[in-house]
Amino acid sequence: MKLHGSMEIRENELYIGGVGCRQIASEYKTPVYVFDEQLIIDNCREYRKYFKAEENGNRVAYAGKAFLPSYMCRLMKEEKMCLDVVSGGELYTAYKSGFPMENVFFHGNNKTREEVEMGVAYGVGKFVVDNFYELDMLEEICERENKVQEIYFRITPGIEAHTHEYIKTGQIDSKFGFALVNGDYYNAIEKLKEYDRVKLVGIHAHIGSQIFDIDPFLDEVDVMMNLVKETKEKYGIELTDVDLGGGIGVYYTDEDKPKAIKDFCEAIIERTEKTCSEIGIDVPKLVIEPGRSVVANAGSTLYTIGSIKEIKDVRVYVSVDGGMTDNIRPSLYHAGYECSIVNKMNSNTDNKVTIAGKCCESGDILISNVAVSEIESGDTLITTSTGAYGYSMSSNYNKIPKPAVVAVKDGKITPVCRRQTFDDLMELEL
Ligand SMILES: *Cc1c(COP(=O)(O)O)cnc(C)c1O
Repeated sequence: MKLHGSMEIRENELYIGGVGCRQIASEYKTPVYVFDEQLIIDNCREYRKYFKAEENGNRVAYAGKAFLPSYMCRLMKEEKMCLDVVSGGELYTAYKSGFPMENVFFHGNNKTREEVEMGVAYGVGKFVVDNFYELDMLEEICERENKVQEIYFRITPGIEAHTHEYIKTGQIDSKFGFALVNGDYYNAIEKLKEYDRVKLVGIHAHIGSQIFDIDPFLDEVDVMMNLVKETKEKYGIELTDVDLGGGIGVYYTDEDKPKAIKDFCEAIIERTEKTCSEIGIDVPKLVIEPGRSVVANAGSTLYTIGSIKEIKDVRVYVSVDGGMTDNIRPSLYHAGYECSIVNKMNSNTDNKVTIAGKCCESGDILISNVAVSEIESGDTLITTSTGAYGYSMSSNYNKIPKPAVVAVKDGKITPVCRRQTFDDLMELEL
């Protein structure tokens, strides 16, 4: 198991942020999510440094959907990050946490009227407008509220990347954004002539997630810069901002070979400068929106092992006290993870087992065929890199309460979210 951030082994036991995993498990019970605060901070600082946030006025917006308790909103504010939200709920969390609204980008392919009204009332920095329905609604609401709203258009650039492959097509089969190939982007620009409450200042695209290859991002840069040029020449509209979205891949298992944040940022900036000079335009302000690569490796989950079931010549099932309710990714995308027993860190064997969750679904398997140390019921198991799309995608299936969340740093534990109680589970019932 790879050790991330502040993880270290002291006398065979795993410590994160200077705190022993067994102490966390006994104080907060299991399952529990543990976040290495220093690693989140370091990731933000790397992004801001190498994306030239101070130097060039570029912006790094954390994509909140990866993990957004108010703790994260406060931390992102301290680290001078911007924030992406995609729903009224995320917007409300940011607002209530005191996150500066001018640094919020409001995304989503079907914002409701209520959500658009909220965004306008709170004064979010940019609406990333996805479609004509939203554009009309936003103009109408801003007119009524006597406000002018800066917007980006989300476009479908014809580049689609998933993990190991990417395709460049005229691809218009996407629920997101204004397509270029069918002219919707240009129609949307035409439409702006009738409107005076929405002010187009940038374009945005997001080409996928968990992408390791830099090439699709570089192609995206080219498409976007050419569009800036075309938009100015054809329509006289100066787009000052280009938002390249998120999607940078991270390490889950040793099959994943992610690029360092530094290399990624430098490649993007270099390509932008090169392309802009070739086509003869000023370099716009850039935005990137990493979610996973800010928090994934910083989060881990601790479980207690219960039943161990050996089916001779077939498989050993090791069951934990959580599963698809706190980590849906293995069931949803066959995502891989690494694990260890927290107090047997130096005693790995070749014994292969399958780590199963406790839900009533055969698909509730966290990790298949993984080598671990000798395991006994009652041991504490850790799965690493569960920080992104773990808690934020968690559910109450089987009426299993959501785990607690804690942050650790410099030997101290900070509670972030308390564990749900059974009464919490019944709270909505009338
Ligand atoms: C999901 C999403 C992101 C973040 O993607 P990651 O893969 O977590 O980096 C950024 N921007 C938009 C618009 C998104 O939908």
